Amino acid sequence: MKIIDHINNAKGNTLFSFELLPPIKGQSIKGIFDAIDPLMEFNPPFIDVTYLREDYIYKQHANGLLEKVAYRKRPSTVATCAAIMNKYKVDAVPHLICGGFTKDETENALIDMQFLGIDNVLVLRGDARKSDNAFIPTPDGHAYASDLLNQVTDMNKGKYLHDDMGTSERTDFCIGVAGYPEKHFESPNLDTDFKYLKLKVDLGAEFIVTQMFFDNKKYKEFVDKCRANGINVPIIPGLKPITNSKQLMSLPKVFHLDIPIELSEAIQSCSNEKDVKSVGIEWMINQCKELKEMGAPVLHFYTMGNPEPTKKIIQGVF
Ligand code: FAD
Repeated sequence: MKIIDHINNAKGNTLFSFELLPPIKGQSIKGIFDAIDPLMEFNPPFIDVTYLREDYIYKQHANGLLEKVAYRKRPSTVATCAAIMNKYKVDAVPHLICGGFTKDETENALIDMQFLGIDNVLVLRGDARKSDNAFIPTPDGHAYASDLLNQVTDMNKGKYLHDDMGTSERTDFCIGVAGYPEKHFESPNLDTDFKYLKLKVDLGAEFIVTQMFFDNKKYKEFVDKCRANGINVPIIPGLKPITNSKQLMSLPKVFHLDIPIELSEAIQSCSNEKDVKSVGIEWMINQCKELKEMGAPVLHFYTMGNPEPTKKIIQGVF
């Protein structure tokens, strides 16, 4: 079922969903199931699976020359989604990124998704490869999420890259995109970032999932600004509790967000990591209760494969 239908069917009640990473190559699907099992009692209508772009390694040849070789660290996001849907009878939402895909490879991935009964896709530009300083589009790939979105909406009309199949052979994906309450780090200002978010919605995105944030004021301002600018699709808050003290530095650095002083000081005053985790979870429970009151359509958790903190939070909220 489409995310938009899950949200409409909930008639204003806040839903719960979460996302995880495909396992490292060489591991089995069991790791994924172990990360999902503890959360199934809360009936998530959908589970997202992220996409991690391949990276490069340098292989040294006998003559001393170095060759740049692409390598993949994880099995396919689409395959992981299919396994989740098959086992749990729940919608799985693959993330589809621009980086690493030519347009033909994107089309092939979307054909596989449609064939497997996947109704939703979260369309993203993707992060830069670790070995690159900035995002570099793949030759004959897409530079921005909006370009990738155009390819999906074309397929939703039956227009494939090399043939127009007409509406009888069209795909029917419900498309989500990313939004940044505290601005995407590359954008010169919030207004410019908004302009491109609105472009994604105008081109056909039906829901937005936000970057994580720790201050609900930021979410409220973001939603208000979206509404004032004619962005009327559901805005799903992306959430992650702080579970260790190192995250006080790593989360702002990686995700370009602010941690409110009340939270950072509460964490700094903890004498051990167990207390840090409790403070982080308690903060997130309060944040979620307030988001529910504010009418957030879904509370979406970045579990990173660790379900326990999310389980405690959901028990505290619902
Ligand atoms: P875009 O919407 O393309 O925006 C990128 C930047 O370019 C922004 O600064 C924007 O303002 C600007 N921009 C947009 N369109 C244009 C244009 N036409 N012309 C000029 N500038 C433009 N990364 C992964 O690799 N895999 C994942 O699975 C993944 N999942 C994510 C899930 C969520 C909910 C979120 C919030 C992020 C996720 N990311 C993931 C990270 C994301 O890929 C990065 O934040 C990336 O840097 C931007 O992606 P985007 O889709 O927001 O890009």
